[in-house]
Amino acid sequence: MKTPVTVLGLGAMGTALARAFLSAGHPVTVWNRTPGRSPELDALGAGRAASAAAAVAASPLVVVCLLVDATVRSTLDGVDLGGKTVVNLTNSTPEQARETAALLGAAEYLDGGIMAVPAMIGGPAAFIFYSGSAAAFEQHRDALEALARPEYVGADPGLAALYDIALLTGMYGVFAGATHALALAGSEQLAAGPFTERFLLPWLTAMLTSLPRIAKDLDGPRSETAGSNLAMQSAAYDNLIDTSVAQGIDPSLMEPMGELLRKAVAAGYGDADLAALVGVLRTAAG
Ligand code: NDP
Repeated sequence: MKTPVTVLGLGAMGTALARAFLSAGHPVTVWNRTPGRSPELDALGAGRAASAAAAVAASPLVVVCLLVDATVRSTLDGVDLGGKTVVNLTNSTPEQARETAALLGAAEYLDGGIMAVPAMIGGPAAFIFYSGSAAAFEQHRDALEALARPEYVGADPGLAALYDIALLTGMYGVFAGATHALALAGSEQLAAGPFTERFLLPWLTAMLTSLPRIAKDLDGPRSETAGSNLAMQSAAYDNLIDTSVAQGIDPSLMEPMGELLRKAVAAGYGDADLAALVGVLRTAAG
């Protein structure tokens, strides 16, 4: 008998999570604010609860996937979580995760960060960060494996959110640059498809292979630059901004990186590699 699971929230992600638990053979109870969402789950065997409290009462393991942290708190306000393990997969900040862990009063609490879109859930590329109760993670690891590769990152409930947000900043940074590149290409009516497949994607893929070298520089002594020092990059960067403006493309996504390069050179890192920018960011925040 597999652990019965309750899923609170049947948005795009909650529905994918419920479906994955059902496929793995777990008895699943679902609840959603708007009734009747995702009717396909009924045919797969999900039971519907009339309230969040009734859904929570149905299973020892309660998986929450709602819009934002405030939604989790309002939904579970006054609901008895005694004896329950709550796994909160709602996107949040580390601070929100810590506060919600303390506030809910569940017997065991795990916070999670889903590194997948709904269609990837249950597939090989998806993974989910978890932090919080190590005992709950070990007890429910098999069930959680039905969703995605589970990655437990520590007892502090805020850690999963930190890993999640760090990866999301990486993703949005890449997408910001790619969005700008497509706008520039489009300013000369280049077709987006061939430009992307022949040039943009291979170029980004090749450039991203330098990430482990940057990480090595951060973790140990700085190595020789790979031939692209920051002074050179900063000097050339003006051309990115000038070309964008001349082509009628808003340069605002690109300007902050130019500013960071200038700061790094002014701080004496002109002969260094990209890893030096991490230190400049830390100084700027402090
Ligand atoms: P959706 O917008 O599809 O669904 C939102 C869910 O939250 C619905 O169940 C909605 O209920 C519920 N909800 C919203 N406001 C309230 C409220 N005030 N009270 C009760 N329930 C409420 O979002 P997703 O399912 O895509 O995302 C859910 C979480 O998963 C988010 O935190 C998101 O960041 C995270 N996530 C999503 C990914 C994705 O690609 N979709 C990827 C990784 C993480 P109702 O049907 O009644 O509106």
